[in-house]
Amino acid sequence: MSVPLYFSDPACMTHDPREFSPGHPDTPERLLVLERVLAERDWLGWARRAAPRASEAELELAHTPAHVRFIRELCEHGGGAIDADTFVGRPSWVAALHAAGAARELTRALLAGEGQLAFAGVRPSGHHAEAGRAMGFCLFNNVAVAAAAAIAEHGLERVLVIDWDVHHGNGTEQIFASRSDVLFVSLHQAPLYPGTGPLEYVGEGPGEGYTINLPVPPGTGEGVWMELFDRVLMPAARAYAPQLVLVSAGFDAHAADPLAGCLLRTETFAIMAGRLRELTLAAAIPLGLVLEGGYDRDVLAECVCAVLPVLAGEQEPPAPLVTASGTGRLTERAIARHGGYWPLG
Ligand code: ZN
Repeated sequence: MSVPLYFSDPACMTHDPREFSPGHPDTPERLLVLERVLAERDWLGWARRAAPRASEAELELAHTPAHVRFIRELCEHGGGAIDADTFVGRPSWVAALHAAGAARELTRALLAGEGQLAFAGVRPSGHHAEAGRAMGFCLFNNVAVAAAAAIAEHGLERVLVIDWDVHHGNGTEQIFASRSDVLFVSLHQAPLYPGTGPLEYVGEGPGEGYTINLPVPPGTGEGVWMELFDRVLMPAARAYAPQLVLVSAGFDAHAADPLAGCLLRTETFAIMAGRLRELTLAAAIPLGLVLEGGYDRDVLAECVCAVLPVLAGEQEPPAPLVTASGTGRLTERAIARHGGYWPLG
């Protein structure tokens, strides 16, 4: 097995929404602490790679030219508020180019056979950014740029995007809603920002069935979360037979996260990592994770440090807290909704 790759760039720490919104939770320190902890552990043996800037043409694989221009010009003019949560300053343009460029380069490296496993530790996050709109701390949709590039520039026909950030990945959903070459599966809390992602919505047109939303109520812990993961996400993922798996890896479903109310343990993320390792090893396909949310910076670092060794096969995944017995109500509803498209249950 080749050495796993870790993509990052110092420019990702120059984007600081606190310039316009003191107390904003998306701080450069999120990455600073993560990188300090990883450096103390010699990057867990992962090979560090520079995250280049995405080109505007690469951004336009997932975004409208008008959106790309809008972000560039707003940053050039000193920045400001895009909405109540989303701010850019002058350095945010370059930070966002490196964040999207990391995801895009991660995909290129994986598809070129330079590795089978990669992680992009970048910000600003991406999964709320729609084709023509920045929102929810996100400027460009990093994972969507990567998935779109895998298809448009590498000729892939099936890319699986798993979004385990606690917030719904509305941007990724919107960008691929009417396409079957991306299967988008999101586990998220509802109600919660941005208020999208109902179980009922499955995509549209040729993309019908290729969006799987698995909303869970606040207070959801590992039992229900992993039941949905194992009974819905995993069987659909296997049946789709993806050629590449990308993960919108947010860590804000952790019980300690200040922005949401799910109750996952650090170990829950490592358990999910173990499942993804199984899935991608069995199918001999590459796996790339792109950082999204996670707003307790110590817990974010702890989660990434728990996930990477399991992905790399250096540690066994921890034991689940509870072994699912029977089928819960949420899982039953999800199977009923998606069972017509995928072999579930
Ligand atoms: Zn989030």
